Amino acid sequence: MTHPVLTALGLTDRESGTYLGSGEWSTTSDAGVLEPTSPTDGSVLAEVKASSKADYERIVERAQAAFKVWRKTPAPRRGEAVRICAEALRQNKDALGSLVALEMGKSKPEGDGEVQEMIDIGEFAVGLSRQLYGLTMHSERPGHRMYEQWHPIGLVGIISAFNFPVAVWAWNAFVAAVCGNICIWKPSPKTPLSAIASIKICNAALKKAGFPDLFFLFNDAGTDLAQDFVDDRRIALVSFTGSTKVGRQVGERVAKRMGRSLLELGGNNAMIVDKTADLKLAIPAIVFGAVGTAGQRCTSTRRAFIHEDIYDDVLAKLVAAYKQVEGKIGDPTDPANLMGPLNSADAVQGYLEAVEKAKAAGGTVATGGKALDDRKGHFVLPTIITGLSNDADVVQTETFAPILYVMKYSKLDDAIAMQNDVPQGLSSAIFTTDLRASEAFLAAWGSDCGIANVNIGTSGAEIGGAFGGEKETGGGRESGSDAWKAYMRRQTNTINYSDALPLAQGIKFDL
Ligand code: NAD
Repeated sequence: MTHPVLTALGLTDRESGTYLGSGEWSTTSDAGVLEPTSPTDGSVLAEVKASSKADYERIVERAQAAFKVWRKTPAPRRGEAVRICAEALRQNKDALGSLVALEMGKSKPEGDGEVQEMIDIGEFAVGLSRQLYGLTMHSERPGHRMYEQWHPIGLVGIISAFNFPVAVWAWNAFVAAVCGNICIWKPSPKTPLSAIASIKICNAALKKAGFPDLFFLFNDAGTDLAQDFVDDRRIALVSFTGSTKVGRQVGERVAKRMGRSLLELGGNNAMIVDKTADLKLAIPAIVFGAVGTAGQRCTSTRRAFIHEDIYDDVLAKLVAAYKQVEGKIGDPTDPANLMGPLNSADAVQGYLEAVEKAKAAGGTVATGGKALDDRKGHFVLPTIITGLSNDADVVQTETFAPILYVMKYSKLDDAIAMQNDVPQGLSSAIFTTDLRASEAFLAAWGSDCGIANVNIGTSGAEIGGAFGGEKETGGGRESGSDAWKAYMRRQTNTINYSDALPLAQGIKFDL
C-alpha cells in the first residue's frame, strides 16, 4: 500500500526517477531500481526506476535547447518563475516536510524547516533577479567606456547529499535559474522520493503559469551515470554537495576538463566555550548542534573546547542534558521526540567504529556509545567522548553521527589553534561575553572556517549569507550574499566612442 505521505503529494509506490522535460517522465525499466527505505523502521517506501544513459542524453539535449530560450528571458521574468515555484512549495510545505522527515529520518519540524529554506531562497532569488549587478570602471583611454556584465553559464549540474535532500537543490537551482541557467539534478540514492516530489511541485507550477522546463532530474542506480555527468563538457558548472572523499574526485575530474565546480563537502565543526560564557546559551547550543538531526548535518558540532575553569561543570551539565535526550529518541515524525535515527545501517556501523577507535586511542565514553539494536531502524545513543587530544585520528575525521569530543584548554590562542588544526574548515563558534575573546576569534588570525559565530552554535545557517567552508570542505559558497556569481560568467566590455584608436598602457603602433 502506498504510504499516506506519498499519496498526499500525488506520488505512488512506483515512480520514475527521470524527468525528461515537456511533462514527460521516462519509462525506462532496465537501468536498475532504487528502494528508498524509512530509517525509522527499515520499511521500503517505494520503488524508483533509475535512469539510463539514453535518458541522460535526452535530458542534456533538451536542457541545451531550453537554455537557448531561457538565456534570452529578462532576469526579472526569470525571477517570476522562481516566485511561482516558491509559492507552490509553500502550499505543499506540510506534505513535503513530512516526506523529507520520513525518507531522510530527520524530525518533522526539521523536515518542514528544510522546505521553508527552499521557500526562503526562492524569495531571495526573486529579489536577486533585479540585482545581478556588474561594475562600471573608468577607462584610462579617452572616449572609452568600460563595464562588466554577468551572463548565464549554461547547464548547471547539481549532485546532492542525503542529509539535506531538498534544500540544497533549491539553494542551487533557484539562484541558478534567475541567473538564466537550466539545472539538471542528481539526488542522493537514499532520498529520490523527496527529489521527485520537489521537481513535480515546481514543474507543475511552472507549466501552469506558461513557463518552460527549467529543472531536470535523473537518478543513478550506481555511480557510472553520475561520473559521466561530472565528466560531461556540456555541464558548465557541477555543484556538488557530499563527502570530502567523493567531492575530491569530483573536483579533480571537473578540473581536468577545465569545467567549473562548486564543492560543499564535509565539516569538523568546533565550539569554544570560554570562562565568561553564558552557559544558559552554550549548553543548549552544544546539545542541539551535536544531537540535532542525529549529528547528520555538515555543520553538526563535533568538537567542544571548554576552558579548564568551567570544564567539570560544563561536562556535568552536558551529560545531564544528553540523558534527557536519551529518553526522547524515536520516530522523528513524532514531535515528542528530540532525536531520530541515523539514515542507514552503514551509518550505525560508522558510529560504532568511531566509538571503538576513540576508546582504543585512550578516550572515555562519558555518555552514550551504543546502538539501540533492540528496536527496528537505525537508532544510536548520542555520545560524548572525553580524554582525547585534538590530533587523534578519530577526532580529525568527520563521523556523520551524534558523537561529540569534549576537550579542555587553558589559553584562548591554544583553543583557536586546535579548532583550526583539522583538515576541514566549515563552521565554528565561540561562546563568550568577553569582547576581546570574541574579536580574536573573528580576526584574520582567528577561526579559519567559512562560518564563524559568536554565541550561536555551529549548525543552522540562514540563507542570506554565503554558505560554505575552506580547506577540505571544498571552498564553495552557495545561497546568499554574492554566491550567485558562481552561476554566471563575467564579461568585461570596453566601448570606444571616440574617433581614435589609443592603445592601453600608452603603447604606440604606428602603421
Ligand atoms: P556522499 O559523498 O556519499 O554522496 C553525495 C552525492 O554524491 C550522492 O548524490 C551520491 O550518489 C553522489 N556520488 C557518489 N559517488 C559519486 C561519484 N563517483 N561521482 C559523482 N557523484 C557521486 O555523501 P552523503 O553521505 O550523501 O552526505 C554526507 C556528506 O555530505 C557529509 O560528509 C556531509 O558533511 C556532506 N555535506 C556537506 C554539506 C555542505 O554544504 N558543506 C551539506 C550537506 C552534506
